[in-house]
Amino acid sequence: MKIFTAAKIFLNGSFVENHSIVVIRDFIEDIVPSQELANLKQFAEIYDFGDSFIIPGFIDTHTHMIGHGLNQLSSLSNFSSFKEVKDYISDAIRQREEEVFIFTDFDESRWKERKFPEKKDLDEISEKPIFLRRICGHIGIGNSAFIEMLSKMYPSVAVKLNYEKGIFWEDVPLQIHSLFPPSSEALEMAFQNAQSEFIRNGITTIHEIGSLRNFRFFQEMMRKGKLKLRSRYYVSGASPEDYKRCGIEYGFGNALFKFQGLKYFADGSVGAESALFSFEYGSKKEKGMWLLPENMENILREAVRANLQVAIHAIGNLAIREVLNLIEKINNVNLVRIEHFEFPDMEDIERAAKMSIKISVQPNFALNWGTENGLYQSKIAEHYKKNNPLNTLKEKNVNFAFGSDAMPPSPLFGIQAATEHPNRAEAIDLTEAILRYTAWGAYLTEETNTLGKIERGYAADFVVTDTEIKKIKATVISGEIISNG
Ligand SMILES: [Zn+2]
Repeated sequence: MKIFTAAKIFLNGSFVENHSIVVIRDFIEDIVPSQELANLKQFAEIYDFGDSFIIPGFIDTHTHMIGHGLNQLSSLSNFSSFKEVKDYISDAIRQREEEVFIFTDFDESRWKERKFPEKKDLDEISEKPIFLRRICGHIGIGNSAFIEMLSKMYPSVAVKLNYEKGIFWEDVPLQIHSLFPPSSEALEMAFQNAQSEFIRNGITTIHEIGSLRNFRFFQEMMRKGKLKLRSRYYVSGASPEDYKRCGIEYGFGNALFKFQGLKYFADGSVGAESALFSFEYGSKKEKGMWLLPENMENILREAVRANLQVAIHAIGNLAIREVLNLIEKINNVNLVRIEHFEFPDMEDIERAAKMSIKISVQPNFALNWGTENGLYQSKIAEHYKKNNPLNTLKEKNVNFAFGSDAMPPSPLFGIQAATEHPNRAEAIDLTEAILRYTAWGAYLTEETNTLGKIERGYAADFVVTDTEIKKIKATVISGEIISNG
């Protein structure tokens, strides 16, 4: 038996003083007034966190932990000019022996030059194959050697490419780690580094979205006892048939790791000008891209019949509307989730609420790109103000939870973005933001009886924070202190 004590504990949506959490094995046995502890103390290990606060462990409902780990190994996110990027790549090519040099996470909106790199810029660096993927994942640039190598290795891969500029959209950038897979060693290093970072940031459950290869890799990590974080997995690029044949349904697995379902893209991202809006925008003066296969309605029906959850990425207002139209035709909305839901029109917010659709929103996007003079404004002008309407979603009773999309994988940053929303009218308060990152997260995978709350019978997953909820001091999963930062 363990007893966790702190100045305040987040119970039932508010902070309560002078209470302690009693944990037996993996579960919360009871929450008791601290003065009643005297009798229990002799039988228990006591963890007294003094003047700190304890809140439920964060559930990151949309993330890419392995993808994030791999990105970190090749990330360009910390550079503030393209010149620095070029120097970094030159050094890497000089120092490393690799067939192809893949770099990720560049964000030209943070560079001094504010210039989108092109094939010729990369050709100046080296004759070895180089590929740069933008932070959004939906767009990338290859040099001449990369384009040649790709066409030789994958003559049949669906390529959306501007050959002149070497710019790729969607398939190639999104699947770059599958087209040119990292070694098992790199994969494990990425996994371990990212898992530690997620746990340090207070995340105790993830809804991981990734490839079939990584789904198997998670299972390997679990067997070897290296998976510490509760994980719910959505496979990208698979079909319902694959699972129907072997009879696997959503929720299959154990308390630590579960298969959840499938993930599809209805559109792209604003940064790549592939999010689908009802108006023309950006340098291409187009509405964006619709990416769902033509037979998506059948796929959805098949998936629902096979009892699989389906998560559909939709960012632009038109993509959101079309996805709602699709879902309306299906009987079982319980099994469908919409990811991002960034620029919904008012009537679609109301529709989503009425249909009780599960939605995963990324509040951090509002601070990353939704501010005045930020990326969204540069792409869609005044429409940028409509990004991530959190307060409206709440007021209209939409069933939404928060996720980070690993940009960065920090719920505290997301909570800050939610409470300090650049559009003040769309800010929500701290309590509400915590609920969206905890209890509501459990709702998306239908685990509201076991996860997301500090309550008797729930998994003993929680985080210890400072009194301003700005810093994580410790993370507890299944009653074990995993990270003590
Ligand atoms: Zn994502």
